[in-house]
Amino acid sequence: MNTINRTQLLGMNCKQLEDYMLQIGQPRYRGRQIYKWIYQKDISSFYEMSDIPKELRRQLDETAVVSIPRVLKQRVSKDGTRKFLMELEDRKRIETVVIPQGEGRGSRYSLCISTQVGCPISCAFCATGSSGYHRNLQSHEMVGQFLSSRRELKKRLKKNDDNIISNVVYMGMGEPFLNYDQVIASVYLLIDPQGINLDQRHITISTSGEVKGIKRLAEEDLQITLAISLHAPNDQLRDQLVPLNRKYPLGQLMEAVEYYLDKTNRRVTFEYIMLDDVNISREHAHELIKMVKPLLANINLIPYNEVETLPFKRPSSNKVWQFYHWLVEGGLNVTIREERGGDIEAACGQLYVKER
Ligand code: SAH
Ligand code: SF4
Repeated sequence: MNTINRTQLLGMNCKQLEDYMLQIGQPRYRGRQIYKWIYQKDISSFYEMSDIPKELRRQLDETAVVSIPRVLKQRVSKDGTRKFLMELEDRKRIETVVIPQGEGRGSRYSLCISTQVGCPISCAFCATGSSGYHRNLQSHEMVGQFLSSRRELKKRLKKNDDNIISNVVYMGMGEPFLNYDQVIASVYLLIDPQGINLDQRHITISTSGEVKGIKRLAEEDLQITLAISLHAPNDQLRDQLVPLNRKYPLGQLMEAVEYYLDKTNRRVTFEYIMLDDVNISREHAHELIKMVKPLLANINLIPYNEVETLPFKRPSSNKVWQFYHWLVEGGLNVTIREERGGDIEAACGQLYVKER
């Protein structure tokens, strides 16, 4: 199907769809009807939109399109995590992961959305960063990851539960704040009560420290969680691990975090990857405590998921707990991220598309 000259309806909010209907000489309320079909009823073929007049369905089929990313492959981990390889309209491929949540695992899932094809930040330890950068994703491609994953989960698990995905984390491939407008547009689509209606307190965006994006998010009227990939407690080490630090050193990053806290009154989470012999000494713990304690933030420790082509190692579990205790004794609020999907390379930072 040639979709190049058709108008993409996925990604439009309700108002934009209403305006589009007016533009093509239809009553405004048709926009709301189509909006419900796309986001609530999961229908992307105009022919199935049964309350739309047949003639309009035919016209839309020729002039418009709702492109949901196609799932080419999926791998299922022992722990129930699934990794989808998805294909976009220009045949670029991305990975999206769904992770079973909480008690009675398997009933509700958390979705890990990609925001770019590849990532230009090139963190030293990350598989996505070392696989190059191709382009930003559009908001319809991000919300499309949600719709496509929900559809696939419902089908595979034979569950007719529209809330099967209860949480969304923007922690897949890419740096969300290098694609700010499209990422935030996709958040507004996910939380719209007239549409997908996800609880916004169940959404987290993770950034490697794009200061401009942090400041912009502070201005939005949103209650999502901001997570910051810190990974090092001093500039010298962070310059090596997260090259964006050379543009926005820790002083500027912390200033942006304080600005965000002032504006929103919301706690932020600092993510801290644990790399053996690199960033988990006693001295690092002291530096980290000094930097983070005044901010009353949460620290999420992430034992490194090894990547075949990269030299970093995961520390032993003794070292992980040692570092954890130092931080807790220093008065920080600390959690350790449980590894999920490691056996199918779906864990944090293991996402890259081999067959691109
Ligand atoms: N680009 C954003 C969001 C995607 S990465 C960011 O960097 O924050 C999501 C999280 O996974 C980040 O904290 C990232 O640093 C971490 N991560 C990357 N590679 C990893 C690896 N190999 N093992 C464990 N965590 C990793
Ligand atoms: Fe990009 Fe995040 Fe990977 Fe760094 S850790 S290269 S910012 S995806």
